[in-house]
Amino acid sequence: MHTQLPDGPATRITRLIERMGRLTRARESGSGELNPAQWEALRFLARANSWSRQPSQVARWIASSKGTTSQTLASLERKGLIARRKNPDDRRGVLLELTERGHALVSQDPLSDLSRSIGRLPPLHAAALSQSLVQILSDLAGEQAQPGFDTCRSCRHFRVGETAPTCARFGALASEDLTAICAHSEA
Ligand code: SF4
Repeated sequence: MHTQLPDGPATRITRLIERMGRLTRARESGSGELNPAQWEALRFLARANSWSRQPSQVARWIASSKGTTSQTLASLERKGLIARRKNPDDRRGVLLELTERGHALVSQDPLSDLSRSIGRLPPLHAAALSQSLVQILSDLAGEQAQPGFDTCRSCRHFRVGETAPTCARFGALASEDLTAICAHSEA
């Protein structure tokens, strides 16, 4: 039986989001460098703080199994875009970092076009859109929603501090940590 979505704004928005997703995936694949999952992992590693750049957190971010994520990361490594180093906080763990080549590629992210288009919206429209998308995403993710993955200023562990901001969990925060994504943030 063929089931059609009912006409109305919800269906129209659903189709627009789907079309936008298709366009961005086509741009990612068309870049010829990486597939969409590899782009997603590379972007995360470019934006995450040093307490979040572990293979297990990449798997959580891209909502993929550890095995599939490990293949994605191995392929980024083979292309010379990321490197592993020992995690000073975990004897058996590794930390992932972008190489110079990885940073150069992220600066040509095919999603920049989408970001620029959104940037041309009037600020009130952009704020409303952002709020609506957050709500839709959390509604959609339901029980599969992953905690964390926000920035310090909205986290309960964040302390302004007398001389510099700190994290009640990890200690001193560098200025770049304040805008980075943290897998351990708690609202
Ligand atoms: S304050 Fe929160 S978001 Fe920032 S590093 Fe600490 S746990 Fe992560």
